[in-house]
Amino acid sequence: MTTEHPTKTHHTACILCSVNCGLEVETEGRRITKVRGDDAHPVSRGYLCEKAQRLDHYQNGSDRLTSPMRRRPDGSYEPVDWGTAIREVARGLRGVKDRHGGESILYFGGGGQGNHLCGAYGDALLKALGVRYRSNALAQEKTGEFWVQGKMFGVGCHGDFEHAEVAVFVGKNPWHSHGIARARKVLQDLHKDPNRTLIVIDPRRSETAALADIHLAVRPGTDAWCLAALAGILEEEGLVARRFIAEHTTGYDELALTLRRIPIAKFAAICGVDEALLRTAARRIAAAKSVSMMEDLGVQMNVHSTLSSYLQRLVWVLTGHFGREGTSNPVVPFLSLSSASKGETAPRLGKKRRRKEPRTPVTGAKIMVGLVPCNVIPEEIVTDHPARFRAMIVESGNPVHSLADSPRMREAFRRLEFSVVIDVAMTETAREAHWVLPASSQFEKAEATFFNLEFPENAFHLRPPLFAPLEGTLPEAEIHARLVEELGVVGERDYRPLRAALRLGRWAFTAAFLAAIAASPRLMGVAPVLAYRTLGRALPRGMEQAAVVWALAQLYALGHREAAARAGFRGIPPVVANALFDALLAGPSGVVFARSRHEDAWAAIPRPEHRIALYLPELVPLLEGLSLDGPPRDAEYPFVLAAGERRSDTTNTAVRDTAWVRKGRYGTLRMHPLDATELGVVDGEQVRLRTRRGTAEVEVELTDTMRRGSLSLPNGQGLEVGAGQVRRGVAPNELTDGRARDPIAGTPWHKYVPAAVERLASGVR
Ligand code: SF4
Repeated sequence: MTTEHPTKTHHTACILCSVNCGLEVETEGRRITKVRGDDAHPVSRGYLCEKAQRLDHYQNGSDRLTSPMRRRPDGSYEPVDWGTAIREVARGLRGVKDRHGGESILYFGGGGQGNHLCGAYGDALLKALGVRYRSNALAQEKTGEFWVQGKMFGVGCHGDFEHAEVAVFVGKNPWHSHGIARARKVLQDLHKDPNRTLIVIDPRRSETAALADIHLAVRPGTDAWCLAALAGILEEEGLVARRFIAEHTTGYDELALTLRRIPIAKFAAICGVDEALLRTAARRIAAAKSVSMMEDLGVQMNVHSTLSSYLQRLVWVLTGHFGREGTSNPVVPFLSLSSASKGETAPRLGKKRRRKEPRTPVTGAKIMVGLVPCNVIPEEIVTDHPARFRAMIVESGNPVHSLADSPRMREAFRRLEFSVVIDVAMTETAREAHWVLPASSQFEKAEATFFNLEFPENAFHLRPPLFAPLEGTLPEAEIHARLVEELGVVGERDYRPLRAALRLGRWAFTAAFLAAIAASPRLMGVAPVLAYRTLGRALPRGMEQAAVVWALAQLYALGHREAAARAGFRGIPPVVANALFDALLAGPSGVVFARSRHEDAWAAIPRPEHRIALYLPELVPLLEGLSLDGPPRDAEYPFVLAAGERRSDTTNTAVRDTAWVRKGRYGTLRMHPLDATELGVVDGEQVRLRTRRGTAEVEVELTDTMRRGSLSLPNGQGLEVGAGQVRRGVAPNELTDGRARDPIAGTPWHKYVPAAVERLASGVR
C-alpha cells in the first residue's frame, strides 16, 4: 500500500535535556511518528526516557513562526520579507553601536539543550558588532560551579557514576533531570547492588531519593550546612586521605583550621538531619574505593550556591576520589563550554594575557566564565547609568519567561532602544522585541551540542536534519551570515579565494582558510561565517550549517592530539581535524573523538605541580560565616517554594505546546498532607500562592514525598501559547525575586522562594 507521505527512518538526538540521547526516529511528511533509542549512539547506547516520545510537539508546535515579524508602534506585529528584515535589523544594531558602542549590546542565549551551532555563528555577529557582554541560562545555573571548578582544578571534571561504588547526588534528581548518561539504568544498578551505595541530599523524597540507601532529607536551603558538616566530620574523625592530600593538593593545613571549627551537631540540627546519619554517610564516602558526586539546580539555585559547589567538591577530594575509575576525572571536551561562553571560538594566537576579573558595567557584578549573571540584567538596563545596555540580541532563549522576576525583565526589555529575537516560536520574549527572526527548528538543519562530558571515551554527535526548513524560516547560520554581510564585514571578495582553494581539495582549503584568518583579525572574528559560505556550500544538502564544526575540529585537534590519536584520529592537527570532520559527517549516530586514560588525569590539571587547590580564599570566609540560625526566614511567608521542579510531564520551554502533557494533573502545587491539614486545604483545591513578588492561583496536590514546610511548582509551565496567548499553569518567574541571589555568582534562589498559601473563598474545584 502506498501512502501520501512514506515513512522514513533517521538517526538524530533528543533535544529535551543536556544528555541528548541518540534516537532512531520515523517520520511521515513533516511529523515525527515513532521514537526509539539508537543502539549505535556511543554514549546513550539505546537508552531513552519517556519524554523523547513526544518530540513532535516541539517540531510541530502551534507557535512556530514562518516570517520575520516587525513590531508596529501599537505593539502588534506585521510580517515582512527577509530582505527588509535583514536590512533593518542590521541598521538597528549598527545604530546602537554607533551611538553607544558595541559594549552597550547584550547577547542572550546561543543555544539550548540540543542546538549549539547557532551560538557559534552568533559569535561572528557579536565580533562584527564589537559586542562584549553575553549571558544565557548557564548564568542562572552553572556559573558558580564552573568558577569553583576553575579555581580548584583548572579544568572541567565529571563523575563516573556507572562504576562508582558510592554515588552522591546533591539537590539533584537524575531520574527526571538526567544530567548523566543512561541515568535511570545507573540509578537502578546502584539500588540493586548490595555492595554499592546511593546517597541523596534533597529535601524531597524524589524518585532518586526513593532508591537511595542514605537519604539526607535536609531542610530547604540548608545544603551548605549539611555539606560543611560532612567535611567537618571527615576532619574530626580522621577520615581524610592524608597521603592523597599530601601528594596532590595545596592548602590543606589552612583549610583544616576552618574544618575543625565547624559545629557539626549544630549544623546537623540546622539542616534537620540526624547527626548519626550524617556520620554514617561521611564514613561510607571515606571507606569506598570510588565515589562520584554531583550537584544540580537544587543547590545551584539556592542559598549559598557557590559555597555549596565548593563544599561538595571538598568532600570527595578530601577523601581522595579523583583520577580513577568510578571517581571524577578531567574531561577532554570537543569545545570547552567556558571558552565558548567567553567567545573564544577562534584559535588564540600569541601568549595568553592575564586580565582583570571582568565585571558588569552598571552593577559591577562578577562575570564568571564570560557570562553576565542573569539576575542583574534588568538592573543593567533600567537605570540612567551611561554604560547601561541599550540593545539585546536574544537567540534560542526566553529571558522574559525563564529569568527571575518576569515583570521586571519585561520592563527592562521595553526600555531597550533596539531588540531582536531569533527563535523558532513567538515566545514571551519575542512578544516584547522590535524584531523577531524565525529560525528553522533543530530538526530542520544540521545541529549538535557541546555538552560532551564523558570519560574515558567522549563522543560528539553531529545530527543531519530530518526535514527541510519550514517555509519562511532560515537556519541561524544563514541569518547570521546575512547580517554580517549586510554590516559590510565580510563578503564575496573574501569567499572567492577560499572557494577556489576548495576546488583543489580539502587540504588546499584548510591551508588557505587558516592562512586567511591568521592574516586578518576581521576574518578571524567572522571565521564561522567564512567557513559556512565556502566549505558549507560543498557539504551535503541540509548539512551546510555543519561547516563551523570543521573549524572547531581544527581547534580540538590543536589542543588534544593524544586523546584524538587514541580515538583513532592520528597525524598533524589539520589531518586529524579533517578526518574527524569526515567521520562526523559519515556517522549520524555520533563519533568517539577522544579517548583518555585515568593515569593522565593529574597531568590534565593545569595548576602548579598539577595539584588541586583546597583553600579558596573567596569562599572560606563564607564557610566560617555560616549563620547559626540557618538560612533567612520570613514569618509572613512560612513556606519555602521550589519554583521549577522537574517532573515526568515537564521539559524545557522549547516545547510550548501544552498538549505535550497527556495524562495526570497539570502544573500542580505540591505540598505535604500535614501542612495542608493545618491550613484546612484538601487535595485538588485551588489556593492562592503568594510571594514577595506576585500571586498565582493553583491546584494543590498532596504528597508525603514533600518535606514539611516546603512547596514545589513544576518548571517550564505558564507559557502564553497560540494567537490567543492562553496561559496554562503557573509561570514560576512571575513569583520570583531577582534580588534573591548568590553573593558570589549572582545565581538566583529559585529553589528558596519564601511563600504563603491561602484558601480561596470558592474552595474545592
Ligand atoms: S529527555 Fe534527556 S534522558 Fe530523556 S530521552 Fe531526552 S535526552 Fe534522553
